[in-house]
Amino acid sequence: MTAPATCIVCGTHDFTSLGTKDSYDLFRCGGCKLAFVHPMPCADEIAAIYEKYVLNDSYERRARSKIIRSTRRLRRYMHMSPGKRFLDMGCSIGTGVEAARRLGFDAHGIDIDENSVGTARKLFPGGRYHAGPIASLPPEWGQFDFLFSVEVIEHLPDPHAYFEALAPRARSGALLYLTTPDAGHWRVPKDFKTWNHVCPPQHLLFFNKDAMRRFLDPHGFDILKFEWNLKPGLKLLARKR
Ligand SMILES: [Zn+2]
Repeated sequence: MTAPATCIVCGTHDFTSLGTKDSYDLFRCGGCKLAFVHPMPCADEIAAIYEKYVLNDSYERRARSKIIRSTRRLRRYMHMSPGKRFLDMGCSIGTGVEAARRLGFDAHGIDIDENSVGTARKLFPGGRYHAGPIASLPPEWGQFDFLFSVEVIEHLPDPHAYFEALAPRARSGALLYLTTPDAGHWRVPKDFKTWNHVCPPQHLLFFNKDAMRRFLDPHGFDILKFEWNLKPGLKLLARKR
C-alpha cells in the first residue's frame, strides 16, 4: 500500500490508510480529510465499467420521477441564474435537460456514455446533447448560466481536469449545482470502507464540505450554500466569480 505524494485538494503530505476494498487501496488526507482511491484506476479500467453499464427499461420508466426531481431543483434556484443557458454535465438519458427545457431554458446535456445520449435524443429531442468527456464540449455551445453536476465528480480520477474544462464554460456569475457523496456526514460508518458509496472503481473520491470548498476555490467557484441533507450526500450551490 503506497500513499500518494501530495493531496490533490490541499497539498498536504500526510495520509491515513482506510484499508482496501475490492483490491483498491483507500486513504484519507490529514489536512482536508478528502478520502480517495490510490492509485487511481487507469483509463482502460474505467472505460471497461462503462461498457458494462447497460440501460434498461426500468431506467426509462423512472424518467418521469427524475424529471420531477430536476424540476424541483431548478425551480428552487432558477431565479438566481443570470440567464437561460443550461448545461447538465453527466446528463444520462436527458431528464435534467428536459426539465430545464420545460422551464424555458436553452437546455444542453453532455455525458460520457453514448448509449445514454442516444436515448436522451430519442426520448427528449427538445434538448441539445453531446457524447464525450467535458473537455470535448462543442466550442459553439459557448458559455452557460446554470450548470448541473449531479453525482459525477466522485467517478473521476482527475477532478481538476474536469473543472479546468468546465470553468471556462461557466460565465461570470453562473450558478453551479453539484452533488456528490459526503464523507464528512455523521451517518458514514466508522469503518469507512464499509460505507455503501465506497465502491471502486465506480466511486474514487469522497469529498466533505471543507475539501469541496477548497477544491472549488482555485477553479473560481464560491459556495453559496450546502443544502441540509439527512443522507450522507453533499448538495451545494456555487457561483462562478
Ligand atoms: Zn487534503
